[in-house]
Amino acid sequence: MKEPKPRIREIRQTEERFLSSDIFEERAHTLPPRNGKGTYREAARDVPVYHHCDVVVVGGGPAGCAAALAAARTGADVVVLERYNHLGGLSTGGVVIWIDRMTDWEGRQVIKGFAEEVIDRLPSDAVAGPDRTLWGVRDEAQAKYWRLRTSAFHGIVTWAPTIDPEQLKLTSQEMLIEAGVRLVFHAWMAAPIVEAGAVKGVVFESKEGRQALFAKVVVDCTGDGDVFARAGAGFDTDIEEGDVHHSMNTGFMLGGVDMKTWLDFRLNEPEAFSELNKRGREQLGFFQAPYVSWRNDVALFLGPRQSGLSALNVDDMTEVEIRSHRFTQAHCAFFRKHAPGFQNAWVMLSAPQLGVRHTRRLAGVGRIERQQWSSGEILPDEIGVSPSVSPKFPVISVPYSALVPTRLDGLVAAGRHISCDANSHGFMREIPQCWLTGQAAGVAAGVAANRGLQPRQVDVTEVQAILRTQGSFVRDHKNFAETAAGEGG
Ligand SMILES: Cc1cc2nc3c(=O)[nH]c(=O)nc-3n(C[C@H](O)[C@H](O)[C@H](O)COP(=O)(O)OP(=O)(O)OC[C@H]3O[C@@H](n4cnc5c(N)ncnc54)[C@H](O)[C@@H]3O)c2cc1C
Repeated sequence: MKEPKPRIREIRQTEERFLSSDIFEERAHTLPPRNGKGTYREAARDVPVYHHCDVVVVGGGPAGCAAALAAARTGADVVVLERYNHLGGLSTGGVVIWIDRMTDWEGRQVIKGFAEEVIDRLPSDAVAGPDRTLWGVRDEAQAKYWRLRTSAFHGIVTWAPTIDPEQLKLTSQEMLIEAGVRLVFHAWMAAPIVEAGAVKGVVFESKEGRQALFAKVVVDCTGDGDVFARAGAGFDTDIEEGDVHHSMNTGFMLGGVDMKTWLDFRLNEPEAFSELNKRGREQLGFFQAPYVSWRNDVALFLGPRQSGLSALNVDDMTEVEIRSHRFTQAHCAFFRKHAPGFQNAWVMLSAPQLGVRHTRRLAGVGRIERQQWSSGEILPDEIGVSPSVSPKFPVISVPYSALVPTRLDGLVAAGRHISCDANSHGFMREIPQCWLTGQAAGVAAGVAANRGLQPRQVDVTEVQAILRTQGSFVRDHKNFAETAAGEGG
């Protein structure tokens, strides 16, 4: 049978997007469709209780790590439940080792707190990025140099380093253990425990079977809203067609390369580079150019990006893995043959975690929306500040209300599934923003648990004050003129 021709949409880079890409939509599956029909009634059963705690964080990705540490530092007894064998989520297991911008366009670090602490604790050779003195520099030569190394955008040098994922796994783990957090790996949250409209804990599945874990507050950091969706909270699934935020792929890394040779080629031989791209697209169908990593001998690939498939459908997820594994080997062979610096390349790793950018977004009490981008307003319940997508916009105030479900108690959400519109999701899903919302959710959950309140009832000024003592950059909306003038360093 003839393969259907994939539909390629060229996505233009605009000032409202972080990334441009050739996204492709190809819904046909490699494997035959499933034949299941009807339903099967599972027998009711009693499950053993695993533990009682103040705060359970479901998902140990960027948001979950920040949430657990922040909650533990409020004095709460915290458990993290993670389905894989490590912390870091996509930033480690998904090989998304490019940590996006944490600075504003003047070079001030605006995403701080956990973001600053965890990167500072990594060994110096596990982080590659521009020196602090260069952040915000608009010098053409510097911007040109750092643009090819993930850290300059719109002609401005930014703080957006690449990191060693193994060191991030270890550092995150040790930080949480030091803070007294109980880690539970290899444990899949199967169902929330909900009573009278409030989440009281979760049931998880592991090699021990099903077990119940009770908590005063649950922080949903699954990235896919698994807890809040199953507990009955509202959510959105609409997507921004022109953005990559809804596409999936499994990232991979090639070892044995010489990125300096590759970058010299990219910079100095633009025609040969575009010829290579063309040839790659012809031979492979879809072509992904590499990014730098934290080492000269490792290249990072975060595509080709596939859209039109859902990360809430197990057959679609399987399809993305099948295609991504094929792309990985095909790219390695192509690069070995044709790309300067890649003659000795080998496939070091295809990510153990599927690269999911978007599934559900919470229907929250508040919401980050496109209209807000230009206002520069400091929201009364600000829990942090996101860099904007282009120098045309000021930084964006992130409200606590975007983490709180409109109608569900006992739970806060953090990470890539917070309440925002599809356009704003393009940047709110980035790793630093997930650290930011994770830390705020953790503090709020700790405060709620310690005071016997629901997350929607906590005094936001107390959350803001604790966040500041934890190193986060949180402005005071009453002090708009002063802080807008340029705090943040
Ligand atoms: C290919 C790709 C490229 C990207 N590029 C960049 C980039 O260059 N820079 C950048 O900053 N960001 C980038 N991103 C975005 C960023 O990686 C994610 O949005 C971010 O990691 C989300 O963090 P999170 O904590 O919300 O979720 P995740 O990182 O997805 O972590 C969620 C964690 O929860 C666990 N979990 C989920 N469900 C359950 C369950 N039911 N039970 C138990 N555990 C569960 C998962 O195993 C995972 O560890 C990219 C994303 C992708 C996919």
